[in-house]
Amino acid sequence: MKLPPTRNLASLSVLAVAVCALTLHCGCQSPQPVRGEQAKMLAATFSFWQPHLLLTSDQRYRRLDIEIDHVEGTGPTAGELKAITEFFETHCRKPEGVRVRVDAAIPRVRARGIGRKALAELHLDGPERADAAFDYFLFFDSRLAGTPKAEPITTRITFPGAVLLDRRYLDAWSRFPGAGDMARRLMLHEAGHILGLCANQAHADGIHCTNASCLMNVRLNIRPLQLLLPGPVVPQRDFCSACRADLLATLAQPPADNLRFLGPYCVRSEPGYHVVSSPAFCFVHVGALADLDLVEVKRRRHAKFTAEPQLDGLHSQTGPLDLSVARELIPQLERDPIEHLRDLAENLKAKLSAADAPRPEPKL
Ligand SMILES: [Zn+2]
Ligand SMILES: [Zn+2]
Repeated sequence: MKLPPTRNLASLSVLAVAVCALTLHCGCQSPQPVRGEQAKMLAATFSFWQPHLLLTSDQRYRRLDIEIDHVEGTGPTAGELKAITEFFETHCRKPEGVRVRVDAAIPRVRARGIGRKALAELHLDGPERADAAFDYFLFFDSRLAGTPKAEPITTRITFPGAVLLDRRYLDAWSRFPGAGDMARRLMLHEAGHILGLCANQAHADGIHCTNASCLMNVRLNIRPLQLLLPGPVVPQRDFCSACRADLLATLAQPPADNLRFLGPYCVRSEPGYHVVSSPAFCFVHVGALADLDLVEVKRRRHAKFTAEPQLDGLHSQTGPLDLSVARELIPQLERDPIEHLRDLAENLKAKLSAADAPRPEPKL
């Protein structure tokens, strides 16, 4: 007896696809920083959007909430906290204020064996108020995870502007005699990335400023000889005038209509689907945004990073889809500006082909 090809909707839950890819971010102060043409190419991959305008403009959100998570013993000092707060208060137009919230320390025992992205995903809470724009910082210690010292990163896609800071790395920079408050300066550099600095290629390569004296330069340069000579050991103390002018010009720009925050998630809405992102996870929702189940998204990302706490890539999922919806979604996803999402379309195609293939005739 020949059975018809099976289109088992239950089996389509396998369309919840987990894909691992590199998170696109700025790895700053790394031994081999991205420069020149390479930097321009990287900048081109996230030039399709300006999500920082949600943070800087008062047109969509009149308040900015910043959450800071930290593993016990790594958290921001009073001076660092003041620097972060003042930076956003100065360069974001928020009539209802900038609220920086430092959450309770993550016990060190709960950070053992856990990677930075899992720590962020498992402790992320979001803004206090639903009508606030949102940004996120994590301070951690790579020794607890058993991983090498990590340079600061600021995510650019799919979640814009999560900053992950390894205190062990910050301390290593700060130990050099005469280097001064390097940790504070490294944080301000990342804050500059959050607000989209260095896209202006008149004085930048798309990622970093070409002015050697600027905090947004690709390197904060330690000049050991200055210990014996007049002048600072690390000359970069502030943003250059060109970067400051860019920050000022940003204030007048409105955010795009298809971007918003939903709690801790940044949502980019495209025809037919929404990309719902947290710092290391994105979820593709099909249909009306009002039907999105945020509890389910949280459950999925927690499950992912609890099962694989050292994962350091970006993880995306689609919810369970029926065949017809999946077929409609593929051509839309194939046009997405993010390669990772286009890869998801390929993955869906493969799943559909497998679901469409006739089943072998059973031996009776
Ligand atoms: Zn940088
Ligand atoms: Zn500059």
